[in-house]
Amino acid sequence: MNPPSAARALDLLIVGAGFGGLYMLHKARRMGLHALVLEASPSVGGTWYHNRYPGARVDIQSLEYSYSFDEALQQEWRWTERYAAQPELLRYANHVADRFGLRDGIRFSTRMIGAHFDEAAREWVVRSDLGEAWRARFLVMASGPLSSPNKPDFAGLRDFEGPVLHTADWPHEPVDFSGQRVAVVGTGSSAVQAIPIIARQARELTVFQRTAAYAAPARNGPLNAELEARVKADYAGFRARNRRMHGGFGSLLPPNPVPALSVSAAQRQEAFEQRWQVGGFALLGAFNDLLIDLKANETAAQFVREKIRATVTDPATAQLLSPSHTLGCKRLCVDSGYYETFNRPNVRLVDISREPIERFNRKGLRGAGRDFEFDALVLATGFDAMTGTMMRLDLRGRGGLRIQDKWHAGPLNYLGLGIAGFPNLFNIAGPGSTSAFTNVIVAIEHHVDWIAECIAHLDARGLRSIEASEQAEAGWTEHVNASARRTVFLSCNSWYLGANIPGKPRMFMPLADGFPRYADQCTQVAAKGYEGFVLQ
Ligand code: NAP
Repeated sequence: MNPPSAARALDLLIVGAGFGGLYMLHKARRMGLHALVLEASPSVGGTWYHNRYPGARVDIQSLEYSYSFDEALQQEWRWTERYAAQPELLRYANHVADRFGLRDGIRFSTRMIGAHFDEAAREWVVRSDLGEAWRARFLVMASGPLSSPNKPDFAGLRDFEGPVLHTADWPHEPVDFSGQRVAVVGTGSSAVQAIPIIARQARELTVFQRTAAYAAPARNGPLNAELEARVKADYAGFRARNRRMHGGFGSLLPPNPVPALSVSAAQRQEAFEQRWQVGGFALLGAFNDLLIDLKANETAAQFVREKIRATVTDPATAQLLSPSHTLGCKRLCVDSGYYETFNRPNVRLVDISREPIERFNRKGLRGAGRDFEFDALVLATGFDAMTGTMMRLDLRGRGGLRIQDKWHAGPLNYLGLGIAGFPNLFNIAGPGSTSAFTNVIVAIEHHVDWIAECIAHLDARGLRSIEASEQAEAGWTEHVNASARRTVFLSCNSWYLGANIPGKPRMFMPLADGFPRYADQCTQVAAKGYEGFVLQ
């Protein structure tokens, strides 16, 4: 890709108009920078644009999962439910785009396909699928950690005559399963939300499960007006308290600061039960060691298995639905009637853990040693997480270094924000940061603010480039690994590890250290003149 002379000049080129890209654009404009967002879809919203499957909703309370950067915005916006559903989240993203006049800074239906760093000019030359090109001083990847759907290469899938839908790439027209026999492959967060709703519509639903899921009840409902008023009376204080929480949310019910095995079995049961009644991720805060000590974790895992047994009437199905891995090692699912759905006469669960799907055919599939027929197929098979989107791009840094070569053994980075060999490129909510373990809007706002300050720092000093040093990057990679080793997260195969994608290098990608500590580290790096980065 030769730098085209006709390329238009920008300060910032931002990839993606989800929550990260929208706020980055707004922030850049406030700084007087000339910025442009490239968005492959025809509208804003990112993950909430694509994940339109039935039941899709956020798993962090909406009063928390929302922007904090503008007081008027957070005061005026009214969520209808405790956990907003996808259409409402999409309305919110559109509202933000309109309220801050962002649309004219976004090139919709335009996919960024590659970017090469022009060393002489110290600029990125970015190309779109429409053959356009831009030169930008900085390239900000706001393409999202969960934006490349994982579509497994099942043998014979093309032979299947019915519709094949993926939860992360759901059609925009309404999908009606009435009277149909539907198959769902996968039992992660997306499936756990979709299955109860599909089951109510379909004539017959068959769920193909490779690994059973832990799900805690959302206890969703209309937003409590008294809580909303209380939060809005001091929204800034509420946000600040949340930023001091490990995951950037949950200050309404902080974790219990004692280890699980320091109390009696009866006290443990009571603590778990209280949190189960609150719903959502509250369960994981019942004790302070559930995600760092396997024995403590097993007490909580046992509690959930008992809930499954008490809910699912057929003992064999209850047994199959009971996970054996560590609770929270794969992200805890937050559900509305998931386990109950398996009591319905039109729903059956098929274990494919030992005998996987062999192949699809015109009428259905062969798996678990049997043949199954259905009219429509839903793949709830997740994402090539954290790196999938970047690894599909023709992204080349200094000396033509390809991102595929740089990351062949895993996504090396420094602070999650920079990559050695890729000057002036910033990554929002990507690998090496706490994004996957954090209320992602908190993670996004933090990254955008940090990037904005960094650019202001460079500009104030007449500096033209910033690049992570290889030494800092190596140290950070070890830090990310060491943080994971202090937790239970290495005890199962999860997308955090890249283990859901055949052939993907196994490297623990998100930082498990907690948002407050991570944010402090980022602040200190900046305070020390961007220590670990080379500025020129
Ligand atoms: P996921 O958690 O990766 O689940 C994918 C499911 O598909 C798993 O059950 C997996 O089984 C199964 N699967 C994958 N490949 C398969 C194959 N070849 N054969 C059979 N089964 C296969 O994906 P997700 O449910 O889309 O969720 C991903 C993440 O997105 C979540 O962890 C969460 O961070 C986010 N999310 C959040 C919400 C929310 O509540 N707000 C909703 C949806 C998603 P294995 O477990 O055996 O790999």
